[in-house]
Amino acid sequence: MTAEVVTRFAPSPTGYLHLGHVRSALQGWRAARRAGGRFLLRIEDIDPTRCRPEYRAAIGEDLRALGLDWNGPVRVQSEHLPEYRLVLNSLARRGLLYPCFCTRAEIAREIAHSGAAPHPGEAGPEGPAYPGTCRRLDPAERARRLSAGEPHALRLDMPAALATLDGPLSYAEQGHGRVRCDPARFGDAVLARKDAPASYHLCVTHDDALQGVTLVTRGEDLRAATDIHRLLQALMGWPEPRYAHHPLLLGPDGKRLAKRDGAKPVRQLLREGLSPREILALAEGSPAGGATPAA
Ligand code: GLU
Repeated sequence: MTAEVVTRFAPSPTGYLHLGHVRSALQGWRAARRAGGRFLLRIEDIDPTRCRPEYRAAIGEDLRALGLDWNGPVRVQSEHLPEYRLVLNSLARRGLLYPCFCTRAEIAREIAHSGAAPHPGEAGPEGPAYPGTCRRLDPAERARRLSAGEPHALRLDMPAALATLDGPLSYAEQGHGRVRCDPARFGDAVLARKDAPASYHLCVTHDDALQGVTLVTRGEDLRAATDIHRLLQALMGWPEPRYAHHPLLLGPDGKRLAKRDGAKPVRQLLREGLSPREILALAEGSPAGGATPAA
């Protein structure tokens, strides 16, 4: 018996849904519906500085308008903070986390001045890797700053985390076999921020495991993140989903269609008179479209 296919669409409510989002959602929806599986909706609103309630409310409305129905209740990450805390505690108990007190400016200065400064092109997917300043902090100094209540992030001790692995990590990319991971490119990734209780990497892998997601569909822009997600899955003993990273939708100028580039929200396209079917076809980048919902 083969396992049920479970996919998900996991937007962050930092703006209205645009065609790029629809492409991700449609890919997950279709994979689940074709296999008679489940398509889940998850709101990744862990970052209080960027997420807005009005965008959150609009996500369900826009998906419904397009006929992209989901199964079961919507999981809203901000309602589950204690669960992410448990993961952080588990990693901390194993000595895989450390508090980082550095400000952005201090990190930039350190990178610029230290011998560990990366050469251009050596930066990781999230910019130049953190030089590990607070990993080397004297334990007494660390304890003093913690007890003084100094604001801090929590970082993964990447060398320690890698040392726990039996061998190299990889993931299964649908239709392409296995892809080798290199999570060290991220340096000591932030798993809890000063201004957010847990990071995207931590919450997304926790929730994919908790919700039994078997196939993660998302844009190529998140492919590098999969390396660190596989590491977290290995550290936490979580199951490994398959991945399908889809090409990003490009605007007429050939540039990436992103919210900040002024991509039109789905709701505006609907208001302008496009039908749901036309919007789904645009999201696929083909005027004919494929198997689309009966909207
Ligand atoms: N929440 C992420 C975003 O909106 C996507 C998460 C994922 O699909 O892994 O960019």
